[in-house]
Amino acid sequence: MTELDVAQADGSGYHNPLRDPQDRRLPRIAGPCSLVIFGVTGDLAKRKLMPAIYDLANRGLLPPSFALVGFARRDWAEQDFAQVVYEAVKEHARTPFRDEVWKQLAEGFRFVPGEFDDDTAFDRLRQTVDELDQSRGTSGNHAFYLSVPPKFFPVVVHQLKEHGLAESEPGAWRRVVVEKPFGHDLASGLELSKIVHAVFPPDSIFRIDHYLGKETVQNILALRFANEMYEPIWNRGYVDSVQITMAEDIGIGGRAGYYDGIGAARDVLQNHLLQLLALTAMEEPVSFSARDLRLEKLKALSAVRLPADLAAGTARGQYAAGWQGGEFVHGFLEEEGIPPDSRTETYAAVRLEIDTRRWAGVPFYLRTGKRLGRRVTEIAVIFHRAPHLPFGKTATEELGQNALVMRIQPDEGVTVRFGSKVPGPGMEVRDVTMDFGYGKSFTESSPEAYERLLLDVLLGDPPLFPGHEELVLSWQIVDPITGFWASGGAPEPYVAGTWGPASADVMLARDGRSWRRP
Ligand code: NAP
Repeated sequence: MTELDVAQADGSGYHNPLRDPQDRRLPRIAGPCSLVIFGVTGDLAKRKLMPAIYDLANRGLLPPSFALVGFARRDWAEQDFAQVVYEAVKEHARTPFRDEVWKQLAEGFRFVPGEFDDDTAFDRLRQTVDELDQSRGTSGNHAFYLSVPPKFFPVVVHQLKEHGLAESEPGAWRRVVVEKPFGHDLASGLELSKIVHAVFPPDSIFRIDHYLGKETVQNILALRFANEMYEPIWNRGYVDSVQITMAEDIGIGGRAGYYDGIGAARDVLQNHLLQLLALTAMEEPVSFSARDLRLEKLKALSAVRLPADLAAGTARGQYAAGWQGGEFVHGFLEEEGIPPDSRTETYAAVRLEIDTRRWAGVPFYLRTGKRLGRRVTEIAVIFHRAPHLPFGKTATEELGQNALVMRIQPDEGVTVRFGSKVPGPGMEVRDVTMDFGYGKSFTESSPEAYERLLLDVLLGDPPLFPGHEELVLSWQIVDPITGFWASGGAPEPYVAGTWGPASADVMLARDGRSWRRP
């Protein structure tokens, strides 16, 4: 198999029974192409996208002809753009800086100044990609990354169409990459999809949920479907409940403009947490093609049931001033740019059920928040207690429930918690843990999520990108929750550095359970 064969991924998203399923073990090298980034002066472009491009080049996964085009409202020359990329790479790249890699990459840098509504700027962009096809052999293959606030998606997509940038020549491709949030509710998500779908065919649209690019998230699939010992107990017969947590210890930082009015449910629950739920709860896919994977995620998401009583089955909060990491921090309402009467929640929790034979009656508790006790993302599958304990009552006083915890970040790995005899003459059983850590078991470090996802975009390989239907189902789950909250009062305050509002604890206590302290 040549490099070109490897590069020509089957973009249909359908399972191809003739395709060797071992393909994915081979180095997957992008073919000739360019990546055009809109919003190249932004935080995401500098912290994640530019370093990821360099890391891919450093790993030999980009072709020598690769080109990176920046588009922004700056009066920059090409050298200024190169300097910005250089600084971003120096500061944030994962792999060591190598002069020869940098020099080759930088030869493909181009910069187009302009506003999004400026027709001449898009004409220049068109000339730039045409010139790249000629001078660097990018062969008409161009991906457009919309790293801009969502309100600009429509104008940029429209401009791409109007200036003939969205249409590919036979044998070439044009793709568009859209960052979250995909709307702020179902109606706006559908509107956004309509706009993008009117210009690009479905298999050319890549919606980024960067959680899906994380090795540890992909490992949920390996753990569940490459092993024999978990799947038989992955059901209501053995599982008591599932807790999915994405906790941040930081506040909103300088992102008041984005966050206010959006809040934790739309920012994290709608995308990252529901994707983690889908991967944890879904049935085994026929293959890991985009279509087969999405099919199973869709089935899981469409079986999600909201609590009948949203007051009892959800919780929301807003962080108040407090001490965190030895430092006094402001409350959300005192953050710069946040109106003092803002009702935006910085904490969201919900109790969901999944109406399938596998999961009937098993609660899935999802929570996310800012300024919580520590930064951690994990999925904890908590098992029933043993039906009978043939020990004296005091022997098992310190025995909890068995649990399998997939640690998404940080300290990536998996922990199994189970009971073990305490050494000594008597029989006392206590919780212990068995631990797998990526850092200990593998010598190679994990690529950043954006490395994986950018490469997949350039290869046209869609399994790790949520499809349109997932977007619809996710909003259908989140809209009733945010709608219910909107009709209530202000969110409940919680002190920064704690684990959220008291109502979230009450929500679980009502079920006779409590949140894990990760
Ligand atoms: P950002 O720092 O606010 O950058 C936005 C970019 O858009 C900047 O380059 C900005 O250019 C440009 N822009 C804004 N208004 C413009 C206008 N009227 N005309 C031309 N350009 C304009 O945003 P970001 O954090 O990089 O995020 C980009 C996208 O990724 C957003 O959709 C965001 O929701 C999403 N996202 C970001 C993160 C993250 O970690 N940052 C994570 C997940 C998703 P100027 O410099 O000229 O203003």
